[in-house]
Amino acid sequence: MIVHFQNSLDFARQLDSNDPLKGFRDKFYLPIINGQECVYFTGNSLGLQPKTTQDYVLNELEDWASFGVEGHFHARQPWFSYHEMFPQLLTKIVGGLPEEIVVMNQLTVNLHLLMASFYQPTGERFKIICEAKAFPSDQYAFESQVRFHGFDPGKAIIEVAPREGEHVIRTEDILSTIQQNAAETALVIFSGVNYYNGQVFDMKAIAKAAHEAGAYCGFDLAHAVGNIELHLHDWEADFACWCSYKYLNSGPGGVAGAFVHQKHFSNTNLPRLAGWWGYEKSTRFLMQKGFKPIETAEGWQLSNAPILSMAAHKASLDIFEEAGMDRLLAKGKMLSDYLFYIIDSINAATAEKLIEVITPRDAKGCQASMLMLKMGREVFEALKNNGVIADWREPNVIRVAPVPLYNSFEDIHRFGEIIRGILKSA
Ligand SMILES: *Cc1c(COP(=O)(O)O)cnc(C)c1O
Repeated sequence: MIVHFQNSLDFARQLDSNDPLKGFRDKFYLPIINGQECVYFTGNSLGLQPKTTQDYVLNELEDWASFGVEGHFHARQPWFSYHEMFPQLLTKIVGGLPEEIVVMNQLTVNLHLLMASFYQPTGERFKIICEAKAFPSDQYAFESQVRFHGFDPGKAIIEVAPREGEHVIRTEDILSTIQQNAAETALVIFSGVNYYNGQVFDMKAIAKAAHEAGAYCGFDLAHAVGNIELHLHDWEADFACWCSYKYLNSGPGGVAGAFVHQKHFSNTNLPRLAGWWGYEKSTRFLMQKGFKPIETAEGWQLSNAPILSMAAHKASLDIFEEAGMDRLLAKGKMLSDYLFYIIDSINAATAEKLIEVITPRDAKGCQASMLMLKMGREVFEALKNNGVIADWREPNVIRVAPVPLYNSFEDIHRFGEIIRGILKSA
């Protein structure tokens, strides 16, 4: 559908009234600032709370009160198998088979667990290829994994950076770095969406190049899951992990997820760090020696499930299921296109360019990273004072992320008007 955008409140409201997902905003608590619902543009950092979450969590507290330990088998959703509800709800979201998906732990923990299996450096093949400016937790994970195996991070970690004067990492540079280091690369790992510039990576091409080089390939989907289209199975990613509290609205520090490609299930040579919850279910409670993994992604589980945070996750994923990933992707694209249009129109109205959007137009999700060429702090403060919650990254980047479940086109219009207001008064 081609929509000719207009910069007017009427037009924004018209887009909202035609939006098939407009009713979903009311399913969330929007923070109130100065007596007014805020414009919440940090769903990429901590998604908002669904109004149903409290009930889901309370149910589990009640069942714990009523049943004690018996809740493992007699709760309304028995805790023993609680996590088994998630793969089906996540198949569309990550593009994996149900057996390839498991909900467990937290993101950085899953990253380490999966690297324990898929980063097996040898004297010849020890390098990790990743993006420059990966999220800090990932950088520390890579660095410590390399040291753990006795290698030097300075030699083992190859970061692909944007070219001089550019903000986006070119796919061709990623692929050629993999090719140039082919014989020495053990693992290629990228995010799905870079947290800083909002760039969506070509995961299919990266996985293909990694495999041609004889390396494993993994993705950190923290900023991608629930945001962009994913086909982990078809792309043949070896593994992936993600958190649930950003676009997936499952609460601060919520339970995370992991994907392991089906092709690895029967490979008993793959090293792993094991725990009892990854043990074959029918004989788990015989409590015997000798680890026998479940031959699915569940075989990577360590601990029994954190039910309270899983209840919050379930509340949120039920909303995703109702909204449907296809509709969310379509609206997400419209929202971000409208956001880019509004930013363009602000730039067009100033003699000197104010904002350089460093998020690539043709490879973006629900995020625009605005490099402020001047007045960065003033703009950020004015947004805050006018009820827009955005995110500031040093030295001068404002990240805004309108999301399809609870943001509106009117939110984006209001954001644009606030910036225009400061420019007028400057
Ligand atoms: C948000 C984020 C994290 C956070 O890790 P936690 O273990 O959930 O604290 C890690 N990596 C990336 C890429 C992220 O975007």
